Amino acid sequence: MKDKQTDNDENSKNGDVSDAEECVLSLQMSLTQLGEIYNEVREKEGFKNVSLGNVISVKPTEPPNYLSKADQDIILQYINLAFELKVGLHELLGHGSGKLFKKEKDGSLNFDAPNVLNFETNKQVSSWYEDGETYDAVFGSIGSSYEECRAECVALYLGDVPEILKIFVYEGEEAEVIVYTIWLSMLLSGIEGLQVYNPKTESWLQAHAQVRYVILQVLLECGEDFVKVEKIEGTDGNPDLLLSMDRSKIGSVGKPAIGKFLGKLQLYRATADIASAKEMYDKYSAVKSGTKYPFLDYREIVIARKKPRRLFVQTNTFAENGKVNLKTYEPSADGMIQSWVDRFQEENTDDILEELWAKDKHHFS
Ligand SMILES: [Zn+2]
Repeated sequence: MKDKQTDNDENSKNGDVSDAEECVLSLQMSLTQLGEIYNEVREKEGFKNVSLGNVISVKPTEPPNYLSKADQDIILQYINLAFELKVGLHELLGHGSGKLFKKEKDGSLNFDAPNVLNFETNKQVSSWYEDGETYDAVFGSIGSSYEECRAECVALYLGDVPEILKIFVYEGEEAEVIVYTIWLSMLLSGIEGLQVYNPKTESWLQAHAQVRYVILQVLLECGEDFVKVEKIEGTDGNPDLLLSMDRSKIGSVGKPAIGKFLGKLQLYRATADIASAKEMYDKYSAVKSGTKYPFLDYREIVIARKKPRRLFVQTNTFAENGKVNLKTYEPSADGMIQSWVDRFQEENTDDILEELWAKDKHHFS
């Protein structure tokens, strides 16, 4: 489904996508088509999601930019645990929740129209999806990013609920630092994501990056010194950015701000109110200079400090004299190529692939 097609880069901690994650993309593309077509099944019956643990457990080794040393260490140590919790909430309670108000074929409404009030106007709901209209059709080009934003906000909002943390076996201090990691990494991705903002066309080239930038803006806007982004001089003498967040204010400042924003996201989505949705979403997506936080200028720093794309190099195992040997490779392009060459030693790999393709062909015609 369109609202999930970019979920592969859920795995893009700090903005980059590994090859393993591209495998997730191809898997999800096939799964998600069902989700979109049978949206009503998801609403009425339930939903399911897949988390590919072997991909999640790939550990970043490079400290991320734009953080203090203490925060870098936290990200490196806890990002995978935080990420697993965030993805679970994003998929299950994010995409898996949120009713769309619809007029059915027989003219009836699928909600209790006299008693359901629009919480912004305090009046009865006056818009909905007409019979045959879908979310994607109504929300058009912002639909994918907007829906991802809703799911990410659900993850932030529910991430600190003790009962949920317990399901993931996180308690006490560990739970607290994992919640902090979820919020901090979200904001960090909001900065890193500027790499895929195109200032010429004033557009975002990637839905998830836009989502995190939007969330960063919402949390900067809520004030109270909760989040800070400062332009500083880096240790190399070049311009740099420093992101910081007051972890003691997650519950008192961050959560209410995200809750309010999430409420609006869902209200406009439920009531097919694309005009209000677009106005709000465009406002937070704007990248400008000459403002309190000139992210258009910050983007120059982000581009200059862009790190090389991360590689996921797989090991191989070989049987030798009745023993299994593990072979590892350098984390470089050469290492990755050698890993693939060793894995597929047969010279007729192409023939094998072609044979498999022919065998499966009838499933796709
Ligand atoms: Zn998603």
